Amino acid sequence: MNNIAVNEFIMSTHASVRLQQRGITTETLNLVLQYGRWFYAGSSDYAIVIDNKTHDVLPRSLKGSHTRNTAIIMSQEGVIVTVEHLRKGIPRHWIPIGHQRKTKTHKRERFSGCLPFIVVNFHITQKCNYCCQHCFARFEDNSCASSIFRSPESTVMLMQIVFNHFREQGVKTIRMNFAGGEPLLEKNLSNYINRASQIGFEVSLITNGSLLTPVFLKECGRNIAKLGLSIDSFQRDTNCAIGRCTPHGQVLNFTQYQHRISQYRHERSNGRVKINTVVNSMNKEEILSDDIIRLHPDEWKVFKVLPVHSGIDLISEADFLNFCNQNSRARNLMRAETNEEMTESYLMIDPSGRFFQNSEHSHAGYKYSEDILKIGVSRALSQVHFDAEKFRNRY
Ligand code: SF4
Repeated sequence: MNNIAVNEFIMSTHASVRLQQRGITTETLNLVLQYGRWFYAGSSDYAIVIDNKTHDVLPRSLKGSHTRNTAIIMSQEGVIVTVEHLRKGIPRHWIPIGHQRKTKTHKRERFSGCLPFIVVNFHITQKCNYCCQHCFARFEDNSCASSIFRSPESTVMLMQIVFNHFREQGVKTIRMNFAGGEPLLEKNLSNYINRASQIGFEVSLITNGSLLTPVFLKECGRNIAKLGLSIDSFQRDTNCAIGRCTPHGQVLNFTQYQHRISQYRHERSNGRVKINTVVNSMNKEEILSDDIIRLHPDEWKVFKVLPVHSGIDLISEADFLNFCNQNSRARNLMRAETNEEMTESYLMIDPSGRFFQNSEHSHAGYKYSEDILKIGVSRALSQVHFDAEKFRNRY
């Protein structure tokens, strides 16, 4: 069957004929994709529908009979297979996403239902313009080394089903943290941020800051509730020794960080700023606290370098403590995290759309789930361990 592209979506020729026959416009299609409720519709397809329940909560300007009970059937690859008007309501065999497969094997993920708040770290690309020796963003499958998760449609669909899953588990605030690699190397990032916000996520972004421009912040800064900047040092030589620089040796200085933070706050005055520092063998003696205080972040998170994939010398517990002590002028902002606290306490998705997790046997690298879109969030979550208790303790 031939597929054709309509706006940003791919649809079968059958679906495009049905669209015309049913008088469904691409505007309606977009509304359904944006606001509709998602179901497993048998075989391996999804159904997305603005049913009565969803229709009630649509913005007033968008209400209308043209959207109600319009269903899109979409394949797992993001192709719109067909469109329907559901005259008899939702078919009984359709299962709302998140309600499926509650079997013994999924006990673990129910744990997350106890959490009022969860953060999903979406590493949308492995690409980075820096080359930090302690970088953890080295994923198993090289096909994702230079590109984001398969397509924009699949990416939006993945975000949607992850959101649906946790919302249906009763999680009130679901944060989507865009990470990388360097996420700003993904050209669609501002769209993804805006779409994630529309879906209902609270959005955060963690970046090395080098590509953070006023134009980008104008496009989506208002939807970023929390901006994370990774800063290991304010010394040029230290940054170069770590690899926190471009191949041409460019590094950001204090003033450039300051500008980026003020540009972000200009777009989102109530936005929160977090600075992440990885304490490693190159910066363990440094005193960053004065400059950190002058940047006025809401939080300074200090991590002990993780052994996973690290090409840098590890540091001892005593070195880490020493760093925290000598930077204690910023103790009101500082939140230190040990390797133990970091292990299995992050919910992470790699650029291929799999959950992945670090483990106590850190040198063994990551453990991956199967493709979330193929097997669903519940099953994929059951394939990696997420320690909800440790997560809760971090916040
Ligand atoms: S800036 Fe971040 S993603 Fe890029 S190399 Fe450094 S640690 Fe890795």
